[in-house]
Amino acid sequence: MDTTENTIVPELDEKQEVQDKPAKTTIMSTIDQWPAKNILIGKPTARQRDSIMVPIPSTYANRTGMLMHRDAYKAFLDMHSAAESEGIALRIISAYRSFDHQTRIWENKWNGRQILHGNINALDISDPGERALEILRFSAMPGTSRHHWGTDIDLNSLNNDYFASGRGKQEYMWLRENAHKFGFCQPYTSNEQRGFTGYEEEKWHWSYKPVASVYLQAFKEQVDYSDIAGFDGWETAQQLNVITRYVLSINGECIIGDR
Ligand SMILES: [Zn+2]
Repeated sequence: MDTTENTIVPELDEKQEVQDKPAKTTIMSTIDQWPAKNILIGKPTARQRDSIMVPIPSTYANRTGMLMHRDAYKAFLDMHSAAESEGIALRIISAYRSFDHQTRIWENKWNGRQILHGNINALDISDPGERALEILRFSAMPGTSRHHWGTDIDLNSLNNDYFASGRGKQEYMWLRENAHKFGFCQPYTSNEQRGFTGYEEEKWHWSYKPVASVYLQAFKEQVDYSDIAGFDGWETAQQLNVITRYVLSINGECIIGDR
């Protein structure tokens, strides 16, 4: 591939530009290379995974053993301490997920072992496309999850209602106001704002834009429907146009060049 195509430089916050001297080199060095396709679809080799991801200490997470992209983790630490100093506790409940991990989540829903939002059992939906659409309200197909990248984290609760009042509302308001200062954005805002396509709103899901926006570009160029296969219901991916309708249908604030 022509390397000039690789030099996509995400916009930096003014804050980051002040901290680090040459903005472009800073970002390029954080991304050390255009991610290979297997990384983008959650199938890194163990060696790749260990060079990109770091373990999240249990003080920041609700369980041990989770991994996160090293750059996103550094930024999260800054965000966590800023939040903490204002009485806001941020706790990671999901971070990096492999293709296999996402397959377990997807197939548990596909096969009715996990009941869907709204108390729906996917097994009751006989049309495969309709069944996939119902799962896709909140879960990505294996190969298409931003959690494959290690750049995206779920914080505090997997329930929008939690963020509607009390402590949850304060946390969400803090994130809306401050997360961007640390490079984080909310890819799944209200889908009204995103033209009613893609996943539903997820107030818990935050993405480290300097890396994730590059990964998204790389995904767009390298991943096709032959990569989104090998799990129950994969045949619906192309028919439902999941790359355009889900992977690419995110809040513009998370896309390079937008704010
Ligand atoms: Zn998430």
